[in-house]
Amino acid sequence: MQSRRHFLQNLSVTALGLPLLNSAGFPFEQNSFAPAADGAVLRVALMGLGSYANRVADAMRDCKRAKLVGVVSGTPSKITDWQRRFSIPEKNCYDYTSFDRIKDNPEIDAVYVTTPNGLHHDHVIRAARAGKQVICEKPMAINAREGREMVDACKKAGVQLLVGYRMHFEPKTVEVIRMRQNGEFGKILFFQGLSGFRIGDPSQWRLNKTLAGGGAMMDIGIYSINGARYMIGEEPVWVTAQETKTDPQKFKEGVDETIQFQLGFPGGAVASCLSTYSMNNLDKFFLNGDKGFAELQPATGYGPIEGRTHKGLLTQPHITHQTIQMDEMAAILLDGKKPLVPVDGEEAVKDLTIIDAIYQAVKTGQRVALKLH
Ligand code: NDP
Repeated sequence: MQSRRHFLQNLSVTALGLPLLNSAGFPFEQNSFAPAADGAVLRVALMGLGSYANRVADAMRDCKRAKLVGVVSGTPSKITDWQRRFSIPEKNCYDYTSFDRIKDNPEIDAVYVTTPNGLHHDHVIRAARAGKQVICEKPMAINAREGREMVDACKKAGVQLLVGYRMHFEPKTVEVIRMRQNGEFGKILFFQGLSGFRIGDPSQWRLNKTLAGGGAMMDIGIYSINGARYMIGEEPVWVTAQETKTDPQKFKEGVDETIQFQLGFPGGAVASCLSTYSMNNLDKFFLNGDKGFAELQPATGYGPIEGRTHKGLLTQPHITHQTIQMDEMAAILLDGKKPLVPVDGEEAVKDLTIIDAIYQAVKTGQRVALKLH
């Protein structure tokens, strides 16, 4: 059922054919947001209005439990543009200096941090201190120490910290995890994860060690790390890794271009993975057990995800990842719903601990032991 306000907005546009004005005086695009009849709605402010924030905001137009109501940005022209596009009132707009005042704004429940990786630590801790629930993009931080500080800060502030692990809600991925949990693949023996793309502009923040925290591993390799864990369903106990760099000008010290890594799991399974900024067409997961297999390709792109198992094609419907993610996160934050695979800060610290260990294994050439429990 639509709220009276939304009903009247829609009536005004369709029946009268007049453009509606938002509080900033701009005509706004019709918002298809339809709140759930019996569920509260998570009111979200997005921080860092870049390419991913745009994708999330567009996807949230179809959410039933989450609504974009505010923005935090260092670029004034983006703020006015977003006010117009998403009917965001002036009182819910902040820049990075005024942002801490969000604590006095009762109309915002959660802050979703979509700034560069190296800024997540500061931005998440400030959002927590303002008493807001926090959603942060991956990688949650640039190392496990920072990640733990963020988890602790959120605990201390009494707020929850979730991380944008959108694949944990993707229907075909969820089906493979369900089949593995049911024992349909038997004893899991092997996982292969290929994650990579050819990165362009050498001046972008993704190739800046301070802002990115590393290179391909932080940005795209993390999908194979996280995927190995949710596909196998165990936590790795060791890691080995090898780096190759063909362009040291573009990929400077501390910015990894290509790393191959292997993870060993307590049940005996091994994961063999590739993370790269130098090759396209690398987005594939393969899981093998003694009774069957699952293959996802593409495995982590925006979709549709495609895949099959020894039983045939996976036919679950494609749902825009960020729409389902935000509705499910609203249910986690508002109703205490438990996701199939965790999406909290502790989950992210595990990935960051593995990344730290991969970098250590590259540096030392040694196998590095992991203790994630
Ligand atoms: P963009 O560069 O497109 O956007 C980042 C935004 O952060 C900028 O537009 C800017 O917004 C703000 N910002 C604040 N300080 C800085 C700074 N010093 N340098 C650059 N930007 C700054 O990046 P993406 O949107 O692609 O990535 C943002 C985050 O989202 C990253 O952590 C990334 O890993 C993650 N991501 C996750 C994806 C997923 O599928 N889950 C996919 C893509 C990205 P403003 O001008 O409003 O301040």
